[in-house]
Amino acid sequence: MKRKPIVFCDFDGTITVKDNIITIMKEFAPPEWKAIKDDIFEERISLREGVGRMFSLIPSAKKIEIVNYVLEQAEMRKGFTEFLAFARNRGIRIRVVSGGIDFFIEPLLEPYKLLDQLFCNGSDFSGDTIRITWPHACDEGCDKDCGCCKASILRQFPDDEYYKIVIGDSISNLEAAKEAHQVFACDDFLLEKCREFGLNHTSFTTFYDVISQIEQQREIAGRR
Ligand SMILES: [Mg+2]
Ligand SMILES: [Zn+2]
Repeated sequence: MKRKPIVFCDFDGTITVKDNIITIMKEFAPPEWKAIKDDIFEERISLREGVGRMFSLIPSAKKIEIVNYVLEQAEMRKGFTEFLAFARNRGIRIRVVSGGIDFFIEPLLEPYKLLDQLFCNGSDFSGDTIRITWPHACDEGCDKDCGCCKASILRQFPDDEYYKIVIGDSISNLEAAKEAHQVFACDDFLLEKCREFGLNHTSFTTFYDVISQIEQQREIAGRR
């Protein structure tokens, strides 16, 4: 049986040029968020704990203001619309897998008709401050307390049935990259890690680069 190509695409820093959580914190959180961010990057606390604590610094009443701010600030990486059309044409499945939060990702993805292909964290605005929820927590194969565990999501797609492609940046995509057959990396950190772990990888800057690379791979792009 021929494997079905499926793309798992990161959101923050990949589909959007910048990380929206950082954009939100800079504008809406009190200064304590920075120490929490440093704790995450130094791996003193898990991503789930850190992201949960950062959002708990912000009043729930700010929701609409935050969404409007993100919609106004976010810049989509070039070629994303064309990449989606290309993938649909060639029968390549797309999933967006993100450690970001539903309330700002969904409004940004809405025009692309991707909402039923989205895996991300949830949110609850019923309390005084924002509470993040975790519908895609780590399976028994991961002890990193990711929040949204991309590696666990990839494991739901059997290796002999799917040809799995990860597109992303940064540390939050590394464990997923290890579960993939092929990786597209758009920052130095993930590229370096792909080299270190001997992963099948390509660097890219725009989604046009991804299209032209996949077009050369007949076993993927030759379908339909
Ligand atoms: Mg990212
Ligand atoms: Zn995990």
